[in-house]
Amino acid sequence: MEATKDFKITRTPNSRLKDITLQNIPFGKCFTDHMLVADYSNGQWQTPEILPYQALSFEPSLAVFHYGQAIFEGIKAYKAKNGSVQIFRPVDNFQRFNASAIRMQMPEVPEEIFMEGLRALIDLDKDWVPDFENHSLYIRPFMISSDLAIGVRPSENYTFLIILSPTGPYYAKPMRIYVEEKYVRAVPGGIGFAKAAGNYGAALYPSMEAHKKGYDQVLWMDAFEHKYVQECGTMNAFFIIGDKAVTPGLEEGTILAGVTRDSVITVLKEMGLTVEERPLTIEEIMEAYRAGQLKEIFGTGTAATIAPIKELGYKDFAMLFDVDKWTVAPEVKKRMDAIRYGDVEDRHNWLWTV
Ligand SMILES: *Cc1c(COP(=O)(O)O)cnc(C)c1O
Repeated sequence: MEATKDFKITRTPNSRLKDITLQNIPFGKCFTDHMLVADYSNGQWQTPEILPYQALSFEPSLAVFHYGQAIFEGIKAYKAKNGSVQIFRPVDNFQRFNASAIRMQMPEVPEEIFMEGLRALIDLDKDWVPDFENHSLYIRPFMISSDLAIGVRPSENYTFLIILSPTGPYYAKPMRIYVEEKYVRAVPGGIGFAKAAGNYGAALYPSMEAHKKGYDQVLWMDAFEHKYVQECGTMNAFFIIGDKAVTPGLEEGTILAGVTRDSVITVLKEMGLTVEERPLTIEEIMEAYRAGQLKEIFGTGTAATIAPIKELGYKDFAMLFDVDKWTVAPEVKKRMDAIRYGDVEDRHNWLWTV
């Protein structure tokens, strides 16, 4: 497949940045001056364009509206102490994006378009990367099917886009989590490992049911026995049991392979903990809790990094945690932040300088 590094760039004549306060800007509501658009047609990727951020116009027959071939990624860029803009592990997101594309029968996006597009776009909008503590630039690459025809078949046309959103500190309030035994997120052979839009649409109703019961999110369980834990909402789940960290393994394809998950595993090992990626049952969790061995539970993801869980509700039983006494989760968060903001040496080569 022919890929090109040439981007057609049209700059906005009027930057909106002067009218915007970046400090403490809420997540996901404000977008930068430019966006990247690349079309796939006639079996190949066309020259990507960087354009002023603007509305798209489509006919109602647009395939994605009907059959849901839609995938996305979530990445963050940080303003380092030395003033440079650094993206956290974007190559991992690029690879995951293409794994999602394959599962959704969509064309893979060439590295030149995804990675160099990211670089060119962020370089153009680099003044939008907030230079305040715990702030970042959220990067949202996504792809939709764009045939103008109704009919269940893979599209022949696709559109890949990247948009950017400056974001303030994300305070991960300790969460109350409900062990979900009725609704499921993912099954072996399904699309749980893909960042496909439908996964999130399907999760909204169970999440709202949990909200009505007073919980912030659900802990998804396996679809057959409702016995093995999977993920916590849209975050990977970690359980500190004794001096070990346990997180569900990826083999079955029901868990989204989080970049944060992978980074946290590395950091936990560096802190001297044993990390086990394996099946974990809710009974084992209950037993560990009753024996006083279940020390901490937290979710991991790009948005929050680490989200502590202060209560896990299973049937009529509530497992409660004194989050203020935790040692592991805060230390992981501290180490991850230090790497991201360039306060310590990037020994893992996780940062990608724009
Ligand atoms: C995106 C996502 C995660 C976290 O992935 P990161 O790469 O760490 O941001 C975990 N679970 C689900 C279901 C997700 O969509």
